[in-house]
Amino acid sequence: MAMWNPWRGCKKCSDGCLHCYIHKGDTKRNINTNEIIKTKDFEKPIMKTKKGNYKMKSGIVYLCFSSDFFIEEADEWRNECWKMIKERQDCTFIFLTKRIDRFLKCIPDDWNNGYDNVVVCCTIENQKMQTLNYQYLKTYQ
Ligand code: SF4
Repeated sequence: MAMWNPWRGCKKCSDGCLHCYIHKGDTKRNINTNEIIKTKDFEKPIMKTKKGNYKMKSGIVYLCFSSDFFIEEADEWRNECWKMIKERQDCTFIFLTKRIDRFLKCIPDDWNNGYDNVVVCCTIENQKMQTLNYQYLKTYQ
């Protein structure tokens, strides 16, 4: 199991963000969570050892647990991530989002070709958001 946080920081966007653990932790460390910044691990999946092997091991990769993978501020960075995800077919990338309504805007052009190694989890939150997300996902089907 590996963690990959290509960027950090997030902005509250729905009821389910009320007790966000990232905001809580950052407040203790005096970090501005609302500032979305790339991390030094941005290219982690494709970083290699001197022998040419991937540094990140095969298996499950928890993606973007210091942010939301679909956050607007990362739109210009996400396509690079999709390329790395496609390259690492030996890994399964799992992320959660509270921005499932941005799904179609955030997936790559070749989404139907080569991303079986991605698991997208959508937070249900409460009855109101469940209904909104269900309606949205129905339009996607
Ligand atoms: S989307 Fe997730 S990470 Fe971002 S503020 Fe809400 S709960 Fe926190």
